[in-house]
Amino acid sequence: MGDTSHHADDTLHRRGLMFILSSPSGAGKTTLSRMLLAKDAEIKLSVSATTRPPRPNEVDGVHYHFVTEAEFDRMVEEDDFYEWAHVFGHRYGTPKGKIRAALKEGQDFLFDIDWQGTQQLYQKDQQDVVRVFILPPSIEELHRRLKGRATDSTNVINARMERARAEISHWDGYDYVIINDDVNVCFDKVHAILEAERMKRARQTGLIPFVRGLMG
Ligand code: 5GP
Repeated sequence: MGDTSHHADDTLHRRGLMFILSSPSGAGKTTLSRMLLAKDAEIKLSVSATTRPPRPNEVDGVHYHFVTEAEFDRMVEEDDFYEWAHVFGHRYGTPKGKIRAALKEGQDFLFDIDWQGTQQLYQKDQQDVVRVFILPPSIEELHRRLKGRATDSTNVINARMERARAEISHWDGYDYVIINDDVNVCFDKVHAILEAERMKRARQTGLIPFVRGLMG
């Protein structure tokens, strides 16, 4: 066969997305991230590095790369991060790793990062970044959810409530805002955004030969 006919399935359709989910702690972002990774085989988590100690259920290399202050310093010096920020007294950063090359191949990435990281990624790459912000249904509900976490002390909870208000004030730096009243409904909305963003014409430059073929 000659290569005069192009089929939609055998063409590289598009660049990958940098899909950012941010929210104050307790708004359900971790659950939503987990649901997205379980339901959608085409998106991978960008695993951050942090100086925070692991929580009991957390696995090194899966939830975070847990590093020492010295290791984090070295990564900053070696320009290993796309972005990094201080959050709740610890440092968190997005390692560059193989993300850029994988985006080119069409791999989508999920970033569970705060507003500071979102700003930095957006400044570097407006084309690929999609920014989604999750809000709690009310401040009372947020407080109730934060209190429900056995792993954190009262001081930590109060600090997080303050931090939550501060984080919410940055909601205007996002493309999409969803209120998480019901996690399943909220998840469907998050997933719909991801699907719609994938279909944006500007991303699907790989379809050009296919469309030309259709036009004859
Ligand atoms: P936690 O300690 O509860 O896992 O995360 C605390 C906060 O740090 C969350 O808002 C989370 O989104 C944010 N975070 C996690 N990884 C990164 C990162 O690589 N960069 C930035 N800027 N924030 C991060």
